Amino acid sequence: MNMAEIQVIKQHLIDPEICIRCNTCEATCPVGAITHDSRNYVVDADKCNLCMACISPCPTGSIDNWRAMPKLRAYSIEEQLGWDALPEELTPEQLADLAPGAEMQTVAPEIPATSPLAGTGEDAFNSARYGATVPPWSAAHAYTNLYGAKSAHKTITATVTGNVRVTEVGREYDTHHIVLDFDATPFPVLEGQSIGIVPPGTDSSGRPHHARQYSIASPRNGERPGYNNLSLTIKRVLQDHAGKPVRGVASNYMCDLKVGDKVEVIGPFGASFLMPNHPRSNIVMICTGTGSAPMRAMTEWRRRLRKAGKFDGGKLMLFFGARTREELPYFGPLQNLPKDFIDINLAFSRTPGQPKRYVQDLMRERAADLAALLASPDTYFYVCGLKSMEEGVVLALRDVAQQAGLSWEALAEGLKRDGRLHLETY
Ligand SMILES: Cc1cc2nc3c(=O)[nH]c(=O)nc-3n(C[C@H](O)[C@H](O)[C@H](O)COP(=O)(O)OP(=O)(O)OC[C@H]3O[C@@H](n4cnc5c(N)ncnc54)[C@H](O)[C@@H]3O)c2cc1C
Ligand code: SF4
Ligand code: SF4
Repeated sequence: MNMAEIQVIKQHLIDPEICIRCNTCEATCPVGAITHDSRNYVVDADKCNLCMACISPCPTGSIDNWRAMPKLRAYSIEEQLGWDALPEELTPEQLADLAPGAEMQTVAPEIPATSPLAGTGEDAFNSARYGATVPPWSAAHAYTNLYGAKSAHKTITATVTGNVRVTEVGREYDTHHIVLDFDATPFPVLEGQSIGIVPPGTDSSGRPHHARQYSIASPRNGERPGYNNLSLTIKRVLQDHAGKPVRGVASNYMCDLKVGDKVEVIGPFGASFLMPNHPRSNIVMICTGTGSAPMRAMTEWRRRLRKAGKFDGGKLMLFFGARTREELPYFGPLQNLPKDFIDINLAFSRTPGQPKRYVQDLMRERAADLAALLASPDTYFYVCGLKSMEEGVVLALRDVAQQAGLSWEALAEGLKRDGRLHLETY
């Protein structure tokens, strides 16, 4: 028997019972390892290189499943498409029968040598590994999947009650603050959760458009307190990630909506990117562009608590990046927040005549404050925005920790285990 015959892999699988078919993982996977039919989303074991890029954006956690399997007996795409539930983990005895001599792997998968992320030094750094999949211990209970493919209620209809532009007028960027009202139908949400928007019509192959996710930008008691509504921050996509002109289906549909229009919504989604609720808990928010949406929600909830005399202290620190001041959503309202309430740090990377500054540069400048916050078990970190920022931000956290004499690997393990570092990049 040769080595290939006894090699055991941790096979990456999607839980068909929880998956809400939002397509986020398929759109995220850089190597096209994820595919779907009308029943299931599945991972091709021959293509998946365990880069972990799909793990943090999945709103349900259904993507984060692994089974030890002999490489040559890995579940095929056809098998997975037929599943109603994930298969049980093989026992060591069953595995030994299938692959005599193989050693059972009991740890989370490491990046294999074949992965583009493998290598030494900075090349080997995989920021996605550090993101928590559990919420802070004091987070409120999040309701999820009340509407969607796996629910008795397929969609909920919302009415647009507001649609205003929140970036200054410019040709390349156009970001809208959109308010959706659910009238008398309960739709409970928390800061940090997202919803899915189902655009009308079909795609080029005649299939209904899949839903796109948008982070909720308002606090749990509504964009307007006491109303059954919420807000979103949506950037009109007019270029793909390579800069080629495109017209994004859902973002353009949403940005063009008028007050009174109806929208089909699924969700809410997300049970880990949630804010702590215990007294004197600190929140560090690091974002770019529309990644500010969940940060606005958390900040506004704390601002409302403070106004009502129910704020129990705790620091709020924001690192917010955009290409220019004009492209930064909510620039004006941010300036009005009291300095003793939130510590705001803005980074602009394309201000004419100024050196490029990114959020990670500001984080390094504030290393002393961040090191103290990293060391405190009451501090929670949230990273949201462009995929390209994630690695730089986590590397900056690592450098801050190491310069302060903290062991990054021990700290990072705790951040993940205790729901203290949340990554949501797209
Ligand atoms: C958890 C989560 C939360 C999200 N929250 C927000 C949010 O709060 N606000 C928001 O605006 N978006 C958010 N997004 C992104 C959003 O779901 C859509 O992907 C985005 O609006 C593009 O959808 P579209 O239908 O307009 O473009 P599509 O028609 O799906 O795509 C058109 C083309 O544009 C590319 N593309 C997709 N998104 C982008 C992008 N952002 N920049 C450049 N090119 C892109 C695609 O690769 C494709 O080539 C979130 C995504 C996730 C996973
Ligand atoms: S781990 Fe990476 S390669 Fe594998 S399915 Fe997810 S995004 Fe694709
Ligand atoms: S719920 Fe998760 S696994 Fe299912 S399609 Fe969405 S991202 Fe993929």
